[in-house]
Amino acid sequence: MAQQNPKQHNVWVLGDGQLGAMLSHAGQPLAINVQPVDIMTPSNERLPLKDTDIITAEREQWPESSLSLQLSEHQHFINGPVFGRLADRFTQKSLLDELSVPTSPWELVDDNTDTSNLHQQYGDRVLLKRRTGGYDGKGQHWLKQAEGTEIPADWRNEAIAEQAINFDEEVSIIGVRTQSGECVFYPLTLNLHQDGILMASISPLSRLDHLQPQAEAMLTSVMDALDYVGVMAMECFRVGDELLVNELAPRVHNSGHWTQSGCHINQFELHLRALCDLPIHTPQVNYKCVMVNLIGADKDDRWLSLPNAELFWYNKEVRVGRKVGHLNLSAHNKAMVDDSIALLQQWMPEQYQAPLAWILAEFER
Ligand code: ATP
Ligand code: MG
Repeated sequence: MAQQNPKQHNVWVLGDGQLGAMLSHAGQPLAINVQPVDIMTPSNERLPLKDTDIITAEREQWPESSLSLQLSEHQHFINGPVFGRLADRFTQKSLLDELSVPTSPWELVDDNTDTSNLHQQYGDRVLLKRRTGGYDGKGQHWLKQAEGTEIPADWRNEAIAEQAINFDEEVSIIGVRTQSGECVFYPLTLNLHQDGILMASISPLSRLDHLQPQAEAMLTSVMDALDYVGVMAMECFRVGDELLVNELAPRVHNSGHWTQSGCHINQFELHLRALCDLPIHTPQVNYKCVMVNLIGADKDDRWLSLPNAELFWYNKEVRVGRKVGHLNLSAHNKAMVDDSIALLQQWMPEQYQAPLAWILAEFER
């Protein structure tokens, strides 16, 4: 019987940062041609997009440029209207409320918002978050009643106010939805943030298993409502046995980087499979993993001497507070993790001591 010719899949990525690069890397074994696009550098050229090509984005917001317009106006720009809706915290939180998906209590900060009313409503500490453009803890402003902090004038209509959540810990879930509406998920990931930036993740953890159905139901409801296709990430606060959504990201996500080492299909490949309508099934977890983000750190080849480490170096200029890579440690047993973390404790700067200690404490809890 004659075999069907395999289809050539071309996927263009709006943005050319590390997520685009890792999508491209994941596409190679499947011969999916993934091309990240630098939309920031002005260009007079037009991209040679074909009608059958597929467009995705590695970021939820972008400046208008000739290339970003060409990509976002393509007929196969998957999830096109979703990006703007989730990039604005006001519309994102409104969607969660409409779907009755639990989230931290919030309101829009407008011309009439009064600081004392906010404290009355939400307590001593209220977190203002810019509606758009925030990442890694940037675009946040704490109102502290004891210190009499005020709403910055230029934050009105540009921010939401959120109740400070006294959470037990932060978790996230990465899921995918296919074109036919089927959803599959990775196990919940435990995350540690320091100064608003993700420092480390551990997954899977059996003590989080009982929260998995709750997390899956919440993210399914969001992805179904948006008729979403591809990978989406949902960051949550765990308060006892309840999950509250902190935020959603319509893309592959830093807290899913452990899947590159721990799973037989990683989040990047899963996203591409969904976009290209290729078969999808629940990824098998081969082993537990720890992910350590490399933030403002210089590349250190000693990391490669750790027997269970995989290094992903983004080849970006190293700047304070900038994500420049990550290390995945596969965790076949506790001793292996302990040994690698002990060495990292010697090699890494001060800001890593708390996250590394956290990994040791949480790994088997
Ligand atoms: P990202 O880089 O993940 O997009 P972000 O800077 O856009 O992050 P958030 O994820 O909303 O913003 O917040 C960053 C971190 O700040 C959270 O992971 C959490 O540690 C803390 N945080 C956010 N909202 C609250 C809240 N309502 N109460 C307490 N802590 C919070
Ligand atoms: Mg976040």
